[in-house]
Amino acid sequence: MRDFAYLRPRDTGEAIALHARHAPGARYFAGGTTLFDLMKLGVESPATVIDITRIEGLRTIDTSRRDALHIGALALMSDVAAHDTVRREFPALSESLTKAASQQLRNMATVGGNLLQRTRCAYFRGGPEFACNKRVPGSGCAAHGGQNRGHAVLGGSEACVAVYPGDMAVALAAFDAVVDTLSPRGERSVPVRELHRAPGSTPHLETVLADDELIVRIRVPRGPVGRASTYHKIRDRESYAFALASAAVAVHLQGNRVADARIALGGVATRPWRATEAERSLVGRPLTRAAARQAAELAFAHAQPLSHNAFKVALGIETVTDALMLAKDRS
Ligand code: SF4
Repeated sequence: MRDFAYLRPRDTGEAIALHARHAPGARYFAGGTTLFDLMKLGVESPATVIDITRIEGLRTIDTSRRDALHIGALALMSDVAAHDTVRREFPALSESLTKAASQQLRNMATVGGNLLQRTRCAYFRGGPEFACNKRVPGSGCAAHGGQNRGHAVLGGSEACVAVYPGDMAVALAAFDAVVDTLSPRGERSVPVRELHRAPGSTPHLETVLADDELIVRIRVPRGPVGRASTYHKIRDRESYAFALASAAVAVHLQGNRVADARIALGGVATRPWRATEAERSLVGRPLTRAAARQAAELAFAHAQPLSHNAFKVALGIETVTDALMLAKDRS
């Protein structure tokens, strides 16, 4: 491991100032459940680690506002998952966190960090003997001609087909959540749906955030769509594994017809993936299993399977169909 400087600011202003002073090569650190892994593997080697865990006020889960739930970026995954209001109003969000990792990890990892976790592509984490455009731009992509069973069928490019590995961001994308950030240029808000980039020809750029931008909170809009929701996750083993296919689904029914539907996909795409065409196909119709399946097929209509992962299309269609039926049962 390379030596690094370790700094511990008291507030967000000091954190941002320290980052500016030690750029380039400074990284914010919260739960450490991704960054330390990558440092041990040699994928990341920051010169300065800025520990933001002692900053006051970023752990709060504020349910007092009528329009949105405000979740501080340092709130722990376990606390958000177990929170009564989250479980009642946004079950898909609670489930996405519970199904994301072991209890030990959920007790350490923060929601801000969780949004920014990096891909589990084995070639990315495997070391310099593997070509990986995400780790070393321009070096190639070993997954295209290699083992790509776990890779993306949606949103990939010649340069990279790595799956976005998170669960919570998929649920947040379904709920049209927004992240608020701070940087030396001030505050700004970014919809979670626009936070992660498709790889295109620059897979090393994973989000629209600048290096020095700090996520301070997540806002989840309250409304009629939320309670009838679920996060359905299919994986190789029943617990503590990354998704082969997942779906965050929410429906709002008026009578027996769909007034609003949200479908976001995980485990199959290079970024949290909203299936808007599939959503539209449901609006105004009774939510039958046949309608759900038709929507699910639309969600995968543009899938481009690789040599080892064509099964994800069929699996994804079943996952979305089942998720819609589970959400309907909660309405
Ligand atoms: Fe690297 Fe992306 Fe190719 Fe994996 S899929 S080897 S992360 S470029």
